[in-house]
Amino acid sequence: MNKLYPRCMDTRKKAPAFSASGYFYPCCWCDNSKSHEFKNITPEHLHIDNVENLTDIFLSKEWNDFFIMLKENPENAPTVCKKKCGKNAFKSNIAKWMDNINILTLKVGDKYSAEYVNKLYLNIKKNTKQLFNFYCYTENPVDLNPEIKIILLDNPDDLQLQWHKLKFHQTGFGGITTGEKCLILDIDWIIINNLDEILSYNLPKNKLGCFERWWSNLRHFCKLNGGFQMFYMGETNYLWKIFNEKPDYWQKYYIENGFAEGPVNGEQNFIDQHAKNKHWLPMEWFAKYEENKWIKINRNWERDVNPYEPYYMGGDFAESIKMVHFSNSENLIHKTKEKWVKEYW
Ligand code: SF4
Repeated sequence: MNKLYPRCMDTRKKAPAFSASGYFYPCCWCDNSKSHEFKNITPEHLHIDNVENLTDIFLSKEWNDFFIMLKENPENAPTVCKKKCGKNAFKSNIAKWMDNINILTLKVGDKYSAEYVNKLYLNIKKNTKQLFNFYCYTENPVDLNPEIKIILLDNPDDLQLQWHKLKFHQTGFGGITTGEKCLILDIDWIIINNLDEILSYNLPKNKLGCFERWWSNLRHFCKLNGGFQMFYMGETNYLWKIFNEKPDYWQKYYIENGFAEGPVNGEQNFIDQHAKNKHWLPMEWFAKYEENKWIKINRNWERDVNPYEPYYMGGDFAESIKMVHFSNSENLIHKTKEKWVKEYW
């Protein structure tokens, strides 16, 4: 039997997952798999209603025996473990990491300096083994790291600020081949954890990969976060086409109708409204930070994402969070006094 490489033995790689059945599993992959194969670690006394503390589960004899079995008798492992953490899965993960992803950023106007783009690039590089190309679409490439691929924005005034991001959806943008995986990222993200799971994410074809901005109380107006959009080049050209038929109309529409606050806004509402096939990535990978607002933000996290671990506590984020967004016009990374920012940015 081929060896297993159980990622659940390192909770930084795969954390235990709580199932709707009331039981914990060593990882989220187990939850949807053949449940009888996990009956040894889900006896009744390890049901969430029957334990006082989570350590009663994680340090139980049943769980200990399970991990020993994975290491010493992998032939007895559940099917999902052989599939996800067996040698072949390991090989195909390497193949996945060899597939380039094109990361597309926009720097326009003078709100953000080259420092934002450079730090985002270097922090992604530090936090992944996935191969990637990093692009910056800008009218002002001065001081950008020479490893960043620059796409010159010839006419910054033809659209308003972040509305230039719509052009990323145009087939062939930046000379990127049709079918290649792309990720639009705002430059005000701080990377706080390994990004392999995100950058090598197996996005189904004909989908727009996005996540639900769980921190917002206005999700009924706009559910997705426009600062993160994953797609295969060419598949989302329709977004550009719809927008480009009436660019002035759309740039005013969401503000005039009260869905977004001006002076320039609404690009993420446009994507939310028009993207045909959204594919939602796990919310627990993403967070937003705003000084003095984290208690309010944490209420949504506890209710909608993870009731067991606060999203933020005095400089530490929940373990599942990989990227933190500093969205909002006055929420600037270089102005914050937070110590944790200095550690990661
Ligand atoms: S699939 Fe099995 S071996 Fe892999 S992380 Fe999950 S429980 Fe562990």
